[in-house]
Amino acid sequence: MVDRNGWGRDHPVLTGSPRSPPSSFVEQANVSEPGIYEEFETEWPDCWERAAELLSWDEEYDTVLEDGNAPFYEWFASGRLNASYNCLDRHLEAGRKNHAAIRWEGKQGERRTYTYRDLYVEVNEFAAALRDLGVEEDDVVTIYLPMIPELPIAMLACARIGAPHSVVFAGLSADALVARMDAADSEYLLTCDGYYRRGDAFNQKSKVDNAQLKLEQDVQTVVVDRLGEDLPHVLGDEEYDYHDLREEFSGETVEPVSRDAEDMLFLMYTSGTTGEPKGVVHSTGGYLAHVAWTSYAVLDVKPEDTYWCAADIGWITGHSYIVYGPLALGTTTMMYEGTPDYPDRDRLWEIVDRNAVDVFYTAPTAIRAFMKWGEEFPAEHDLSSLRLLGSVGEPISPRPWNWYYEHIGNEECPVVDTWWQTETGAVTISTLPAIDDMKPGAAGPGLPGIDVRVVDGAGESVDPGDTGYLTITRPWPGIARTLYDGDDRFRAEYWERFSDPAADEWHYFSGDAARIDEDGYVTVLGRVDDVINVSGRRLSTMEIESAITDVAGVAEAAVVGRSSETNGTDVYAYVSTEGGYDDETAVREAIVDNIEAAIGPIARPEAVVFTPELPKTRSGKIMRRLLEDVANGEELGDTSALRNPEIVGEIQAEIDDE
Ligand code: ATP
Ligand code: MG
Repeated sequence: MVDRNGWGRDHPVLTGSPRSPPSSFVEQANVSEPGIYEEFETEWPDCWERAAELLSWDEEYDTVLEDGNAPFYEWFASGRLNASYNCLDRHLEAGRKNHAAIRWEGKQGERRTYTYRDLYVEVNEFAAALRDLGVEEDDVVTIYLPMIPELPIAMLACARIGAPHSVVFAGLSADALVARMDAADSEYLLTCDGYYRRGDAFNQKSKVDNAQLKLEQDVQTVVVDRLGEDLPHVLGDEEYDYHDLREEFSGETVEPVSRDAEDMLFLMYTSGTTGEPKGVVHSTGGYLAHVAWTSYAVLDVKPEDTYWCAADIGWITGHSYIVYGPLALGTTTMMYEGTPDYPDRDRLWEIVDRNAVDVFYTAPTAIRAFMKWGEEFPAEHDLSSLRLLGSVGEPISPRPWNWYYEHIGNEECPVVDTWWQTETGAVTISTLPAIDDMKPGAAGPGLPGIDVRVVDGAGESVDPGDTGYLTITRPWPGIARTLYDGDDRFRAEYWERFSDPAADEWHYFSGDAARIDEDGYVTVLGRVDDVINVSGRRLSTMEIESAITDVAGVAEAAVVGRSSETNGTDVYAYVSTEGGYDDETAVREAIVDNIEAAIGPIARPEAVVFTPELPKTRSGKIMRRLLEDVANGEELGDTSALRNPEIVGEIQAEIDDE
């Protein structure tokens, strides 16, 4: 049967068997009352006060939600607060000054621990320095740093003085930095001399120097000396040394500026997986309330925990779940500068073991790599401190999900597969770990208060099991306030497709394709553009990928469409295997068999191309659009967001050889 949108519906749901939350977990969970879903429904939007109550407000808000100017929503209107006060001062006032706030592990094995008091002192000193450089409230400060403690310190210092930060991922190019500084008219930059990459010194400052040449505005630059003698550098005009500034402002404190709940806390760009990155604007009150609430309810974070989100602060995940969420709750947040396989492939497990990490949150790309490397690496360490595991960034198919659950969680930790976006600010779809069963391969239902709908092209909800567009009806506190490109683009990207402004009906469109089951669990099938039409049937590339990664020995897969005269589109698959599976013919046969069994002969791939790696964005997502260009022999689209550009050429060569 085919619904009116042309999406196929008779292929099976590729989710694994459900698992119940372990009772040891349920007993201690922050949120364990199943009634919470109904409470949020009946009390909406006031239910979100639960999130606001996790914060300290300078002035109480008048209304929870102002929706008169939709889709430009206001949350906790007229409330006032300061994010750095919420992440620092109030924990000192509560007598927790000696509690560890940040535990940092450097690439070269260095370790630093900042207590809440240490963090408070350094944030204040840098805030004083920024003020002295001329930074005023609402000036955008750009931060271009790798995963060193000065990065969250600078973010909090900006928040303290009401200057929105714009963090640019350190691995992005000089041009990307220029584009972001230009867009925000930013005149202040914090960067470093360089950082270590697999033991080698890498020069960051030279990228900044290149960027400076292209910037029209005068920029005051602060440089953190990360490498010392390993990379001597000279400061030019309007360049300042971070440590000198700290010394100059040693011991100074700065009153946290009381910000309106709707004032911008920061600006953050999307990953650029589907095209040009979008600059997203986040608010102070709604955003902070939402990240604190989801850290509490979904990640089950407690003040006494050692919590580790192994992401980069250069992306939204790190903003929300390394910095703002955990620090607002007063927990210990881990920060790791290095890669998971240096010096060896057990690096993360060694860190979990040594720090007795309670909650661990990472991305499917990392989980698939762990699986590829083998279970012996986690097995070398004691991971029994872990209580909860999380995944974010891409769909996670059942085999890696189960691997994570078994080999990292020892079948004792719930796994939360959290779906959200730079634009949603914080988690919007996930199970609540003590309440809901987990279904490997499905993220879960919308969180309490989040009304997720999977709809057809006409905006009607599809039947359970059908595929459609992932939308959210009703706003939520962490929702982006606008795009930096302007309100028109914000409206066009997210609100035009399914809303009816004349009727004042608003539906947020995520850009993702999904399916929803009878229990309201959402399986994200990738981007809408990643759904291909084979002989009139709409097939989800993600679903075919899931059938491929289900095959023993397959670590990762990406499926794209190739134009074909006979079928409209052919299925084209790229696969990378785990160590030890070198017989490509056998793996190829098993893949084809499994696709036919799981989805049907219609999805039989025209080609299965083996490659040691798939092209990924710098935030670790598979970039299918380039693979599609390769399959179709077309010129490559924008590759600036790619982390491993060389692999595309290798794949092209491989195909030409065949
Ligand atoms: P761009 O918008 O520039 O193309 P991007 O969408 O990759 O980049 P992000 O905001 O970092 O930028 O990523 C959000 C997207 O990541 C979601 O739209 C979704 O496709 C994917 N995603 C995130 N978490 C999950 C998850 N748990 N399951 C499935 N997909 C996920
Ligand atoms: Mg996106």
